[in-house]
Amino acid sequence: MSISTFGKRRIPVIVLVLCLMAAVGPVSGFAWLKSNTRRVQVVLRDRVMDITTRKETVGELLAELEITVGTADAVNFAMNEPLKDGMTVSITRGRPVFIRAAGKTRAFLSSAATVTEALDQAGISLGPDDYSKPLPDEPVPADRYIAVIRVTFREEVVKEDIPFTTKYVQDPQLEAGLSVVRTKGQSGVADVRYMVTYEDGVEVSRKEIFRTISKEPVPQVVACGTRTEVSRGGTVVRFVRAIEVVATAYCPCEICCGKNANGYTYTGVPAKRGVIAVDPRVIPLGSRVYVDGYGFAVAADIGSAIKGNRIDVCFDTHQEAWRWGVKKLKVYILSD
Ligand SMILES: [Zn+2]
Repeated sequence: MSISTFGKRRIPVIVLVLCLMAAVGPVSGFAWLKSNTRRVQVVLRDRVMDITTRKETVGELLAELEITVGTADAVNFAMNEPLKDGMTVSITRGRPVFIRAAGKTRAFLSSAATVTEALDQAGISLGPDDYSKPLPDEPVPADRYIAVIRVTFREEVVKEDIPFTTKYVQDPQLEAGLSVVRTKGQSGVADVRYMVTYEDGVEVSRKEIFRTISKEPVPQVVACGTRTEVSRGGTVVRFVRAIEVVATAYCPCEICCGKNANGYTYTGVPAKRGVIAVDPRVIPLGSRVYVDGYGFAVAADIGSAIKGNRIDVCFDTHQEAWRWGVKKLKVYILSD
């Protein structure tokens, strides 16, 4: 800076300097002038300016250069920082940063390096449980997008079912393979207090704090048969397991087995009394059985309508089959 560019209000200083120079002699006066001149570098965007100045502070220098510093801009020194020779003063201009908070995204001009600084500049504060993405101490990301997540908590009491447990007890009076519910289970009820965490009003997790049981569950008791012998008409039937089925009588006739019936079962055994048709997933083919109200038989046939706990029992004549009809009964499987 040359003397001629000094503003009016500096004139008294120059007058003082000149007086001083006159008083102490030209040589020492020139030295004083020189010592009061500073060479500094000013960096603004990609412009690097070498400046010689008589200004005292960073703020004065920027004013002299007519560089305005907005609130979104950043200077690497405080405005009242005294200028020193060789100093580099950098001005960073604010760029848009997009901050999403409370469901709204707003753009702010910011020169912030970190997320915290950007939020500060935007006047957005994080509550004790809030957080940001990226995290506050991370740098402002390349896409300049910052999300503020508001975290709140609320206690909630919920009635919850307590499922009942099932107890199995052996029952020697009941046939093996059969089970009977002796006591019906009942669900209990618990009042459960949760601490629910919300992020921007949306539940993200819940933690049980405590629970009180207002109704204890009643365990279900199931009796399982262990009996492997029954007496039928003076005959002792020894069996592996019993099952309850719906049994339908049939005979090899066309009415029972259709026009293409050839009188033979699926396994090749002739269809006659003593043969039953089964679902092989329930009673394996080839099993010897005792059917209540029918007698001993072999599981030798299948049928498209025989699924699950159903069997067909074969009679020699249609009349016998018709008379027998349909019955709900027990089948004793003598061997698997
Ligand atoms: Zn028939």
